[in-house]
Amino acid sequence: MATPAMFITWRDSADANVYEKERVDRVFNAIKPNRYPRAIVKVTHPSHVQEAVQLANQLQCRVSVRSGGHSWAAWSVRDDAILIDLEGLNEVELDESKRIVKASPSTTGIMLNEIIGKRGFMFGGGHCPDVGIGGFLLQGGMGWNCKNWGWACEQIVGLDVVTAAGEILHCNETENAELLWCARGAGPGFPAIVTRFYLNVRPKPAAMYRSTFIYPISEYKIVMDWVIKASPTSDPGNEIVAVSLIPEGIDEICIMVHIVTFQESESAACEALRPLNDSHPAGAIVEVISQPTSVADQYQDQAKANPSNHRYCTENAYINDDVDVTAVLEKAFTTLPHPKSFALWFSMAPMSRRPLPDMACTMQSDHYFALYTVWENVEDDVRCKGWVNNIMKDVAPMSKGAYLGDSDFQIRTTKFWTDEAAEKLMKLRRKWDPKGTVSGYLDDGDISGTRGLDNQNWSKI
Ligand SMILES: Cc1cc2nc3c(=O)[nH]c(=O)nc-3n(C[C@H](O)[C@H](O)[C@H](O)COP(=O)(O)OP(=O)(O)OC[C@H]3O[C@@H](n4cnc5c(N)ncnc54)[C@H](O)[C@@H]3O)c2cc1C
Repeated sequence: MATPAMFITWRDSADANVYEKERVDRVFNAIKPNRYPRAIVKVTHPSHVQEAVQLANQLQCRVSVRSGGHSWAAWSVRDDAILIDLEGLNEVELDESKRIVKASPSTTGIMLNEIIGKRGFMFGGGHCPDVGIGGFLLQGGMGWNCKNWGWACEQIVGLDVVTAAGEILHCNETENAELLWCARGAGPGFPAIVTRFYLNVRPKPAAMYRSTFIYPISEYKIVMDWVIKASPTSDPGNEIVAVSLIPEGIDEICIMVHIVTFQESESAACEALRPLNDSHPAGAIVEVISQPTSVADQYQDQAKANPSNHRYCTENAYINDDVDVTAVLEKAFTTLPHPKSFALWFSMAPMSRRPLPDMACTMQSDHYFALYTVWENVEDDVRCKGWVNNIMKDVAPMSKGAYLGDSDFQIRTTKFWTDEAAEKLMKLRRKWDPKGTVSGYLDDGDISGTRGLDNQNWSKI
């Protein structure tokens, strides 16, 4: 059967409404960028990606890529580039005997887990249902139970790409291995376009349970000290997060500790949660102890906490292991600027203490901190963004770097990799994309080009 033609919307000739829809409708953040691609190409076949890159090379312009559209800073929307939108690629094919799934980059976490879940498998994708695996995996991927299962990108065993020169390649540990190394942590600086991932999947845990404790924020210090101490040695099935939020019906800032356990049986789940249930501080206003849950339930809660059509400003830091983390995060956790905003501490130990496989994703500490500043009205932009700046001025000096996935290099830059990994990554970028055809890291003025990012500790706060 003949391959269908790809669909191109040109900035200079399309109906303005159609162009605008193609430009930003799939950008999750309601703060839309003032950047205008030359054209948007909707592909429905991997060969279209090659055609689009060849077209860009003929026209001597850049390409940018959109998989799930969830980059907070809308990295896919770049001035005068050809934006390749991969929404129309939607392959998910599981090989049960090899425990490998082939999936298109625009596949979302929920799509992937629904399809493979029916056949008894799970993938530790992003916590929010609609995040695309494309951007998520390239950044490293802080997926389900990352503190014990490791980075999601470690499960990439292969990928199909279109290079900046327009060549179609397969990459794995033995073929074009440099690109596999980059795909595990280069983020938007990946110097090619992925058209298909090959991922290891894990057997779906038979029992998923949770315990949740919500306290008034006056208990912040006691609760944080407890959870930070208890987490590293907690059962390896336990994912642990502390969140500062304003819960519906309570309507004041609270601190919530939420533990989800992935286990083989109900009794193993209850046993895994027991030490935390038994040791949690007194004074909780909500206690949910060892209740069944599911990936679908957790996705639903995440979707509620991260609503679409809202304005977002996120920021994050890997807090140093040797500081008083409770004290460092106190202002962030106790002064949220909007009822829909939240701040979180995500336990990364013990995974953060092991030697990592050889890959670009190399930055980690025991303590991941992120601000998810959510609001609705443009009038709150300055106040909410100002709050983030203010918090980061204090927190950044106490941290060793940040995670690409919750960063915006137009505003703040820091270390995203170890020095060695950053140097290797920028060299590989120049080798595989010497003309800077793939847009890369969106810094202030979009000038990073083939140079990439400097990887200096909070060079710009
Ligand atoms: C509500 C919400 C929740 C989130 N939760 C998590 C979480 O739990 N864990 C976590 O780690 N992150 C999380 N993130 C961050 C998320 O992983 C990143 O924003 C990621 O970039 C989203 O991927 P995407 O494909 O949807 O984004 P897109 O905007 O489509 O892609 C972002 C950029 O990645 C690059 N890219 C994407 N696909 C390709 C490709 N096929 N080939 C080459 N380059 C590509 C491009 O530079 C692209 O512009 C969350 C984000 C949101 C909005």
